[in-house]
Amino acid sequence: MDMFTGSLYNNMKWKNHTNLENFPAFLHYMVNEEIKFVADRMLGKLATYLLMVGFDTLYFREKEITLLLRIAREQNRIILTRDTRLIKGIAVQRSIFVIDDKPIDQVRQVLKEMDLHVNMDDCFCRCLRCNRRLRKTTAAEVAHKVPPYVLISHTEFSECLHCNRVYWKGTHHKRMETMIQTLADPRRP
Ligand SMILES: [Zn+2]
Repeated sequence: MDMFTGSLYNNMKWKNHTNLENFPAFLHYMVNEEIKFVADRMLGKLATYLLMVGFDTLYFREKEITLLLRIAREQNRIILTRDTRLIKGIAVQRSIFVIDDKPIDQVRQVLKEMDLHVNMDDCFCRCLRCNRRLRKTTAAEVAHKVPPYVLISHTEFSECLHCNRVYWKGTHHKRMETMIQTLADPRRP
C-alpha cells in the first residue's frame, strides 16, 4: 500500500460496513474510472437526485433482493440501501447503508462516503427515467414531442435517445439548480 492509498484507507469510514468482508465502497471507487450506483426501492428520491447531478444510478423498484445483488455484481454497481438484510446478510457486496431520512441529506452522505464532488457541468446530463446520457438538441428537432407553449418559451432542449423523453428548463428547474448548488458548495458540511 503506497502513501496515497494508505492515507485514503485511514480516512475511510468503517462504521457503516458491519461486515469487514464487504469490500469497502470507497476503495472500490479508487480502482474504477466511473462510479455506478444501484438504489433500492426505498430510495427513489435519492436515485433521482444522484441522476440529476450526473452519477450513473439505477433505481431498482422491485422487491427481489437476489436480483438487486445480481445487477450490482454484474454491472459493478455500489448498492445504496436502507435494508439491513442487504448489509448484514450478504458478504462481498459493496454497499452504503443510507442513514438519513431526508433525500438531500442522503445525497450528502453518499457523496461524503465516496469522497465525490458535484460538478455543475455534469448536472442534468442523464435521463431521470432510464439513466442514459442525454443528447443536446434543438427546438426544431423536438417540435413534435413537446407542447407548443414550451417550444415558444424555451431554446435549450435535451433528449434521451433510449426512452425518447425530452427535457427543458421548466418551472422546477431553478429550484433544482439551487438545491444542487448547495451540494456543490465546498463550504457546506
Ligand atoms: Zn430515458
